[in-house]
Amino acid sequence: MIEWMIMPDDLPEEHNRVTLDHDLRDSDGLPGAKISYTTSDNTHRILDFGLNRALEAHEAAGATKAWITFRNFSSGHNLGTAKMGDDPATSVVNRWGRTHDVPNLYVIDGSVFTTSTATNPTSTICALARRTATYLVENRREQEVSTA
Ligand SMILES: Cc1cc2nc3c(=O)[nH]c(=O)nc-3n(C[C@H](O)[C@H](O)[C@H](O)COP(=O)(O)OP(=O)(O)OC[C@H]3O[C@@H](n4cnc5c(N)ncnc54)[C@H](O)[C@@H]3O)c2cc1C
Repeated sequence: MIEWMIMPDDLPEEHNRVTLDHDLRDSDGLPGAKISYTTSDNTHRILDFGLNRALEAHEAAGATKAWITFRNFSSGHNLGTAKMGDDPATSVVNRWGRTHDVPNLYVIDGSVFTTSTATNPTSTICALARRTATYLVENRREQEVSTA
C-alpha cells in the first residue's frame, strides 16, 4: 500500500491570525494565544485538484484499489503572523528579521514567512537563522537600542 498526502500552498489571509486571549492566561498570568483559522475555498480547490491527480496516478500505475481517505486540510507547517517586509504598515519584521516597532528585537522562526509554502519549511528557517545571525555579528556596533 502507498499513501500520498497533498500539501497546498495555503495563502495568507487576514482572517487567519493569532491574537491574545485575555480569558485564557498562562501560569504567569500572561494572555494566551488565540488561533483563528478557516480553510479558504482556494485551498480546498488546490486540495481537490491534487487529490484527484493522485488518484489518477495510482490507477494509472495499476492499483487494484485506490481511494481518498479524507479531504480536510490539516498542516503541521504553521507559518506567518510576524511577516517579513519593507513596509511597517503591512509587515512585522524587516528583511533582517528585526521588528519595525521595537529596536534591537529580532524574530527568527517560521513566523516571518510571507506564505505557507507547499513544502517543508525547516531548511529555510535554518537558512534565515544563519543569515540573521551573520547580520547581527557583522552589524553589532550599529544596533539601534530602545531609549525607553
Ligand atoms: C507533526 C509535524 C511534522 C513536521 N514535519 C516536518 C518535516 O518533515 N520537515 C520540515 O521541514 N518541517 C516539518 N514540520 C514543521 C516544522 O517542525 C516547523 O515548521 C518548525 O519546527 C517551526 O519552527 P519554529 O522555530 O518556527 O517554531 P517551533 O519549532 O515550534 O519553536 C517554538 C519554540 O518556542 C517555545 N515556546 C513557545 N512558547 C514559549 C514561551 N512562552 N516561552 C518560551 N518558549 C516558548 C516552544 O517550546 C518551541 O521550542 C513538522 C511539524 C509537525 C507538527
